[in-house]
Amino acid sequence: MQNQLTNAYESMGISQEVFMLCQQIEETLQDRFAEIDKITECNQLKVLSAFQKHQVGEAHLLGTTGYGYNDLGRETLEKVYAEIFGTEAALVRAQITCGTHALALALSANLRPGDELISPVGKPYDTMEEIIGIRPSVGSLAEYGVTYKQVELLEDGTFDYEGIKNAISDKTKMMTIQRSKGYLTRPTFSVKQIGELIAFIKDINPNIICMVDNCYGEFVELSEPSNVGADMVVGSLIKNPGGGLAPIGGYICGTKECVENAYYRLTAPGLGAEVGATLGINKEFFQGLFNAPQVVAGALKGAIFAANLYEHLGFDCTPNATESRHDIIQAVTFHDPDKVIAFCEGIQYAAPIDSHVTPTPWPMPGYNCDVIMAAGAFISGASIELSADAPMHEPYTVYFQGGLSYHHAKFGIMKSLAQLEKKGLITIKERNS
Ligand SMILES: *Cc1c(COP(=O)(O)O)cnc(C)c1O
Repeated sequence: MQNQLTNAYESMGISQEVFMLCQQIEETLQDRFAEIDKITECNQLKVLSAFQKHQVGEAHLLGTTGYGYNDLGRETLEKVYAEIFGTEAALVRAQITCGTHALALALSANLRPGDELISPVGKPYDTMEEIIGIRPSVGSLAEYGVTYKQVELLEDGTFDYEGIKNAISDKTKMMTIQRSKGYLTRPTFSVKQIGELIAFIKDINPNIICMVDNCYGEFVELSEPSNVGADMVVGSLIKNPGGGLAPIGGYICGTKECVENAYYRLTAPGLGAEVGATLGINKEFFQGLFNAPQVVAGALKGAIFAANLYEHLGFDCTPNATESRHDIIQAVTFHDPDKVIAFCEGIQYAAPIDSHVTPTPWPMPGYNCDVIMAAGAFISGASIELSADAPMHEPYTVYFQGGLSYHHAKFGIMKSLAQLEKKGLITIKERNS
């Protein structure tokens, strides 16, 4: 068996040396993988139970056209999402074009001129800068008279409770709390930490709406931020909850009031959730959600494998090889643009789609510097599929995520190392040397 595996990898461009090292690393991870399997088992049952409780039936897999009135599949899917996230309501739509759009929607629907928005967790995700108007942008919240404040994290990556308390004013209407690190090297917050932060904020003023950017966090833990007090959780269906099958879409789960505001903003005042044809997409949304806990588990194992491999090779990894996980992103810091490019090439060459193309840095819309992206995905840009991206500036950190299965994620990482080796950018060290 071992021989066949070595041969299979060799035929895919993985040297004996890379293969051996990766097998050694993997062997050390069995306990951690078993832990993930337990969480996955619970989350799989949580999802299944929501499907059964809301009696998802064959008719729900069909779609509507035109206005999309009485789309039973859409309505049931939203009930299932609300059930899973433990919220009063949910908006899950193909008309939400991406995660950024879902976040813009949640914010603009619930803020009014004169209101103030605070990020108590430091700088938000790059594309949020234009939504908020941190970088001047047409249609930003700033243009509509919504002001913004940001409270930096403390040196050790924890919340500056004193600073948050001082920042809150009578105008403070909403908090935007980003769970995942995004393109930063700060730690990702656990659901428990987010719960503590929300409790602190609600203690000062219970009317402040706490929104959590839940991108990349879904199904990583047993609970979600909406189980610990968040008024809204927001995310993308081409990340975790779409399970690799949803071809588009975003979700907002939350209180009835917040979600209602969002659907009037998404469609039109007076129309709200009643319109929005699904055009036959319901089956992918349901099936992707059903698969999501398993897909997230594979991605998570891949991320842990990557951290252990690259830390062994001497690079800083966030999270590091041993710490607990709260999202599927793995950051590896190279301090070297050539290594970043080689890593991304390896990921690309490992893809099922477009494995023959070579990624290069380019000025991507929404980002303030060149970005290199490796993705050979069935769904364009889906980062629940094996993908890596890096903003091309110091400290030259690559953010790796996804993989529809653990074995594919593992192969991608092996291929990234093979590419670094091939370009003479790295020498492989045996684990016990
Ligand atoms: C991906 C992501 C977004 C934006 O989602 P897109 O679908 O890329 O627009 C926002 N916040 C975080 C933390 C993300 O990871």
